[in-house]
Order: sequence, then structure tokens, then C-alpha cells
Amino acid sequence: MSAKNKVVASCVRPMVAALHAYVPGEQPKVRGLIKLNTNENPYPPAPAVLKATLAAVDGRLRLYPNPTSSGLRAKLAAMHECGPENIFIGNGSDEVLAYLIRAFVEPVASVAAGSSKAKVQYLWPCYSLYPVLAETHGARPVAVPLEGDFSLPTVPALRRGGQWDFDAALSLVTTPNAPSGRGYTTAELDTLCRAQKGMLVLDEAYVDFAEQDALVLARKHPHVVVTRTFSKAFSLCFQRVGYAVAHADVVAALDKVRDSYNVNGLGQIAAEATLDALPYYQKNFARIIKTRERLRRELTGLGWKVLPSQTNFLLAEPPGAPAKEWLERLRAKKILVRWFSLPEIQKYLRITIGTDAEVDALLKVVR
Ligand SMILES: *Cc1c(COP(=O)(O)O)cnc(C)c1O
Repeated sequence: MSAKNKVVASCVRPMVAALHAYVPGEQPKVRGLIKLNTNENPYPPAPAVLKATLAAVDGRLRLYPNPTSSGLRAKLAAMHECGPENIFIGNGSDEVLAYLIRAFVEPVASVAAGSSKAKVQYLWPCYSLYPVLAETHGARPVAVPLEGDFSLPTVPALRRGGQWDFDAALSLVTTPNAPSGRGYTTAELDTLCRAQKGMLVLDEAYVDFAEQDALVLARKHPHVVVTRTFSKAFSLCFQRVGYAVAHADVVAALDKVRDSYNVNGLGQIAAEATLDALPYYQKNFARIIKTRERLRRELTGLGWKVLPSQTNFLLAEPPGAPAKEWLERLRAKKILVRWFSLPEIQKYLRITIGTDAEVDALLKVVR
């Protein structure tokens, strides 16, 4: 390490030095890999979305974008039967989650020891970004386990367990769940909403592949926020657009703590065009669900234990060898899937649903 870097190291906050940053799935540089590792949509954006985005690439790039994403918020409000004051747009839903913590959670150092006001709690396993966002904010991350089959603990079970804090500043539920793919009913989520006193975030990144959604709960309970993204279902990861549906007071609080131009202009345009092309995407949801169920049947027939999924991926336990070894063997055959070293899920591989041809290539290698 150079002398200069030693100076930097001594200046970096200890919290940052100790932080275990989020590890994104690999975006390979080599060509020809079948990419089933980051839950991207295998189908391209609608032609009209590409056209609208391309048409916006001109001298206007020198201007700042619409600071409040007003066009996009109006369209989302119409779609979700609420007002634009109930919609908050972020640079991906990741950013929305970070702002929720910024707006609703106290850093540990500014409240009494053990205070609920500094707690970010989540039912675990779930999206592994949550603890990173909590740590970065100086809040206290608290993981409370889901049931062994990844189902939601009931409210009485949460009370009995004693770990779940009904007053926590902010609680998060990934629904449908990632990494398991398990779906939850609106009714069981509503029971949790009614018991919870602090803010409750329902992260619906995969909801378009599920049987039920919980949007009605964000419209009904002022302390409940539903987050969604254009990334997974709407083939728009590259553009980074996500949003929250929430009470107007929640949106107002988020608006105070966000960057003034947090959503880039081309992203706003692409997302608006997406909402004008919904039938194209709905066809893709149906195709992905169909491919998902076929892959599940075929892998099961080959001796894999595959969990039921309401997302665009499967969590599956391969036979014969440890999952990590399968990961490496599949990669050698140019198929990229995801494996997590977390004890709760290390016996599984997470496989994103690709096109039928990609899934056939996977099955060929597996056989
Ligand atoms: C992918 C994902 C997100 C983030 O989506 P972006 O909008 O791309 O930031 C949020 N939550 C879950 C559970 C996800 O899987």
C-alpha cells in the first residue's frame, strides 16, 4: 500500500472499513454465456420503448431531467388507482429502499441503546441488500428468520419468538420472497400490516410473476409502502427505475431526502413508454411463468428438489454433488447460475428463467 493510501485508510470511517458491501451477480465480459444468474428478463424491451428512448437521444441530453418524474408518476398513479402524490420514483428500487431508511430510521448513535427507532428488521432470508443499507445508514439491522419452508411466520408466532419488534422503525418483507421464490397471500400480509406499528415495506420486485399482489395494502394502511421496479418484469435493469406506492406523507418525506435529479431522463422516458406497452410485457410474464413451470417439472424429473416459485427464478437443490460444484460445472459449460454461501440456502442453486432455448440448453447440460 502506498503512503498516500495509508492516509486514506486512516480517514475512511470505521463503519465503512468494516462494511460487507452487497455483492451483485456477475456480468460476464466473455460472450456466449447463457446468463441465468441475475434475474434479468430474457426478452428485450418492447420495440416502442427502444424507439422512444432512441428518439430522446439528442441535444436535450445537456438539460437536467424532470426533477419530480411527473409524467411517469401520473401514468403510474392512473395504473394503480391512486394520486401522483402517492408515487415516489427512484434510481432503481434499491435507491427507494435507501431513502426509506434515510427518512424513517435513526442512526444507532442518536438514540438510547436498543431503541426500536434505530432498527431495520427483515424476515430472513430475503434480499441481501437490506442489511447493507441499514449498516451504511448507521442503523441496526435485525434479521428475523422465516419459517423453515420460507413461509411467513404468523403474528402469534412472531410474538412468541420474541425477536420481531412490532415498533421497529422500518421492517421489510420481500414478497414474493427472494431467494426462495415463495409467494405470500395478501391476506397474510394484511395480518402483519395490522399488527405492525412502525413502517412496513413490502418489496414486490417480482410481483408480476406472482398470483397475488399487496398494492391494496399500501392504499389502505398509511404505514405500509409497496416498492416495485421496472428492472425484472419490464426488461429495464439498464435504465434503473423503481418506485414506491405509499401514503402522500410518506412520499413527501422521501422527497425531502432524495437527490434533486435522482431519476435520469432516459430512464423516465423508457419507463413511461413501457407503461404504454403493457400487453407486450404481459405476454412475456405468461411465457416466463410457463417456462418456469416446465423447468420445474423437468428438473424434478431429473432428481432435483425444486421449490415452488412465484418469481422469474427457481431455487433448486441439485442431486449428487454440492450446489457449489454444480455451479462450477455449469459455468464450464457456459451456463451461469447463482449460488449463495448463506447457510440457509447453500444447498441450492438459484436459476433465473431464460428463454425456452436457454432453458433447453441448461437441461441438456444437466442431463
Ligand atoms: C432486483 C431487486 C431489487 C432492486 O431492483 P432495482 O429496481 O433494479 O434496484 C429490489 N428488491 C428485490 C427483492 C430485488 O430482487
